[in-house]
Amino acid sequence: MCIRVRFAPRDQLEPWDAEQQIIAIPDELSATTLYTLRAVRAVLRQLGIDQEPFGARCWCGDEIELFPAIPQQRRSDEVIHLGA
Ligand SMILES: [Zn+2]
Repeated sequence: MCIRVRFAPRDQLEPWDAEQQIIAIPDELSATTLYTLRAVRAVLRQLGIDQEPFGARCWCGDEIELFPAIPQQRRSDEVIHLGA
């Protein structure tokens, strides 16, 4: 099972759920991919998983999906809004 990422309020945060293999990132870091990626990589390194210069890698070598909770439609809307 691959590592997944979720967002949670900072006061309820457990950065690493070993049982479910979920990395939890504070809500406020979900605003930009850069912040999310940095936070996820920091946790992965603490877990002893070597990270390449870009992206976030699971221990199996797969790229970790950073935004599982955001529906595709909403992301498209945001892109359009930012581009306007
Ligand atoms: Zn994996």
